[in-house]
Amino acid sequence: MKEFELIDYIKEFFSSEYIGDDAFYSDNILITKDILVENIHFILKNNFYEIGAKSIIANVSDIFAMGGVPKFFFMGLGIPEKIKFNDLELFLNGIYEYSKKYNVLLGGGDLSKSKDTFFISITVMGNCITKPIKRSGAKEGDLIFVTGELGDSEIGLKIIKENFNCEDKDYFIKKHYIQDLYPDFVKELVKNNLINSMIDISDGFLQDLEHILISSNKSAIVDVNKIPISEKFKNLKGILSEKEYKLIPLISGEEYSLIFT
Ligand code: ADP
Ligand code: MG
Repeated sequence: MKEFELIDYIKEFFSSEYIGDDAFYSDNILITKDILVENIHFILKNNFYEIGAKSIIANVSDIFAMGGVPKFFFMGLGIPEKIKFNDLELFLNGIYEYSKKYNVLLGGGDLSKSKDTFFISITVMGNCITKPIKRSGAKEGDLIFVTGELGDSEIGLKIIKENFNCEDKDYFIKKHYIQDLYPDFVKELVKNNLINSMIDISDGFLQDLEHILISSNKSAIVDVNKIPISEKFKNLKGILSEKEYKLIPLISGEEYSLIFT
């Protein structure tokens, strides 16, 4: 069973109306949760700080994607014995730096021993700036926008997983863990009621745009030449195959850029 099929099954099973967007919404409160599991979402390789950073960024991104401001976070950790205190300190530092950057305060959490794998479950609570911006709000004639530049995160993953060889390896690896979010820019747009629908990119531009389109019962035309890519990504022309060069920005996951219409 695919992940989205299981989510649909759970939604039906509990007859929950609240499932299906980047975060839960009720009474001006937004709540989101993301789980990161060792060897599924990350491989441990002297990267505790980066994993800490990523685990908070992925969560606050979902609050921004709802047109919200994150306020508090709750940190659940399953810690195997192999993880030493120094490593844990680096991990907490990563979370600390980015919780400061995005003004979220630690509200609580839970700890457990774990047999072999490091397990992170973070929940973030926030409030709407005006009203929740849903995936389902896209209107006929809307333009599609995306923040930041796409593709770098996937190149970082290729370097980590496949030892992909290119220039600027450190830049791409960093982009895999730590993405730029644009909360102030989006806040202005939300305040001025300019955004009809929004999602953050966790699965890839095409797949996440599809979530907006299906929820909104719309279709879209995308000029792939207008997808923003970084100067460093442009340098990979000729190193990547032509197909990869075109495709990677469209399918690169864990970008935490916002797609909005
Ligand atoms: P995102 O990539 O934005 O974090 P997901 O694809 O993880 O979103 O989740 C989509 C929707 O499914 C969300 O509303 C989320 O709360 C819900 N969801 C995911 N897993 C579960 C679960 N185990 N139980 C209930 N709801 C879930
Ligand atoms: Mg999301």
